[in-house]
Formats: sequence, structure tokens, C-alpha cells
Amino acid sequence: MTIVVNPASRAKEWMAALTEQLPNESLFLWPQVGDPARVEYVLAWQMAADDLAGFPNLAAVFSLGAGVDQWLPLAEDERLADVTIVRLVDPAVSDEMAAYALHWVLHYQRRFDQMAALQQQRQFTQPDYVEAADFAVGILGYGNIGRRVGEAFTTLGYPINAWSRTLHHDQPDPSIDHYAGLEELNDFLSASQAVVNVLPNTAETTGLLSPDRLDAFADGAVFVNMGRGTVVREADLLAALDNGPLRVAVLDVTEPEPPPPSSPLFDHPNVVLTGHTAGVTLIPSASRIIAANIKRLRRGEEPYPVVDAGRGY
Ligand code: NAP
Repeated sequence: MTIVVNPASRAKEWMAALTEQLPNESLFLWPQVGDPARVEYVLAWQMAADDLAGFPNLAAVFSLGAGVDQWLPLAEDERLADVTIVRLVDPAVSDEMAAYALHWVLHYQRRFDQMAALQQQRQFTQPDYVEAADFAVGILGYGNIGRRVGEAFTTLGYPINAWSRTLHHDQPDPSIDHYAGLEELNDFLSASQAVVNVLPNTAETTGLLSPDRLDAFADGAVFVNMGRGTVVREADLLAALDNGPLRVAVLDVTEPEPPPPSSPLFDHPNVVLTGHTAGVTLIPSASRIIAANIKRLRRGEEPYPVVDAGRGY
């Protein structure tokens, strides 16, 4: 049985890394597929259901990116009902995301933004800033990436608020304040000086930060979005920046993405756009993780983790 590889970019690098990790497998670079009946696994960033349905013995699709919202329509396609969707969870990407969040939260907490302005005025002075111990960082989505972000800030003395769908009773962490569910969301938001979003894009998280929830943010809060742009409507975000309570929004992700050239996000003085770079897929580590999962399947074991279509992530 064979594997079809369909990366959005850097095809040669992907094929070289996967061939090294899976020397005994027969790999085809899309649109080459060999005999469609022999295709067992597809590795792709995204792929049309009609193309996948052309493989009658397809057992699993491996996502080449951390987000899985692009795969959810497959779960509703009855031709693909038996196909497992395997997520890509790479600790190296979580590290990148933690570094991104640290950079931007520190930039505004330590007032490095003001220092640049002071330099322009030929001043060499210290702006006032809130110390780390009084600057709580709220993490929206306390999963694989959110926990790594939390660790990075905890090490430096920032209090952590975490918000997730469920309380993690099986792994309680006394060093963080854990909030769960919509009923605790406003308390979480108002207790956080910076809010870092790493929620997946699901039906429940779309539009989650509605105008009344944006009103619950602490005055002068820093918002960093590296989850998905769908969590907040652009107009609502701009209103929260213009009329309070937000001080600044750092957006790695937007909706639509990319924003059209006419988008007011490009001109707003308190918006930073970073072009979906917070945690790009790293081919060497991603190939190792995907290969380990394929070997697991070959041994008759379950791959890890798989998409739960009911939850949407
Ligand atoms: P994950 O391990 O599945 O964690 C998701 C977290 O979100 C979990 O804590 C989950 O709660 C929480 N959550 C989901 N739906 C929720 C809801 N309705 N209400 C409250 N909490 C909810 O995912 P991950 O690996 O950390 O990745 C998170 C997302 O980051 C990805 O889906 C992707 O969109 C984004 N991402 C962006 C980049 C980038 O470059 N910008 C790179 C990688 C990933 P439970 O713990 O209760 O399940």
C-alpha cells in the first residue's frame, strides 16, 4: 500500500525528509498517485473531498499543519466516513508559538513600544511599566500550545490565567488560575492584562469575542491572536481598540486571511500584523512525528492525536 504526499509548498524538502524517515514506504508526490486503489494514507495541508474520494482504500489523512479546521468538512462527507484525520502536534512548533507570545507581551508590558518613541525624541529615560508579577497573562485555549505558552511565562514570574472548554481535573496545576466554559469567560478576561488566543477555529469559537466580551477585557489590555482570525469580527476588534478597553492587538491570524489591501487593519496605529508566522510547520520535526504515527498504524496501533469531529478540533 502507498502514501500520497500533497504539501502546499516546499515539496522537495517534504519528500526528502519523509523518504529518510520512511525508507520502506512507497511515497508519491501529488498529483502522482500510482494505483489509486493502493493509496492508504494521504499527507496534506488541505485536499478536496472529491480528490480523496478517488482513493477507495484510504485509511487516514495526516494534516501537515497544526490547525485542523480545513479538514472538518471531510468528517461530514459520507464517502470518507471511515477515514481517520490525524493531527500534527509538534512540541517544536509550540516552542515557536511560546516565543512569539513572549516577544509581543513583553514588548508592551515593558513598554518597549514607548522606548522607540522616546528614542525618536532623543530621550534616554525609563517609561513606567507594570512588573511581571502584576501582569497576568490570560491564555485562551489551554491545549498543547497554550500549556507551552503558560510554562514560558510562568518561568519569568507572570501569573497565568487559562481558559479552556473543560477543567483539567486530571492534571491540576496549582500555579495557574484555571477558568472553563462561557460562564467563566468574562471573569477570565477581566483578570488578564494580556490575552493570548490559541483556540482552534470551531463553530463554538467563531465570534467568541463578541462586543460584550471585548468590553470585559481589562483596561489597556494587550490582545495577541495566534489561534484563528474567526474568534473576533474585525469591526468589533477595531471598535474595542478605538473606544477601549484594548491598548493594542497583535494579529498573526485574521478573517479573512489574508486581509484585503483595503482592510483598516493595515492602517491602524495599534494593530500589528505578522502574516501567520507565529508557528510555521517545521519539516524535520513534523516528518519525524508523522512517520512515528505511520509506523504506529503499521503495527496495528492508534495514531495520536486524531481529530474529534464532534468537538471540531
Ligand atoms: P489543542 O491541543 O487541541 O488545544 C485546544 C484548546 O482550546 C484546548 O484547551 C481546548 O479545551 C480549548 N478549546 C477548544 N474549544 C473550546 C471552546 N469552545 N471553549 C473553550 N475552550 C476551547 O490545540 P493546539 O495544538 O494547542 O492548537 C490550537 C490552535 O492554534 C490550532 O487549532 C491552530 O488554529 C492554532 N495554531 C496557529 C499557528 C500559527 O502559526 N498562528 C500555528 C499552530 C497552531 P479543552 O482543553 O477543554 O479540550
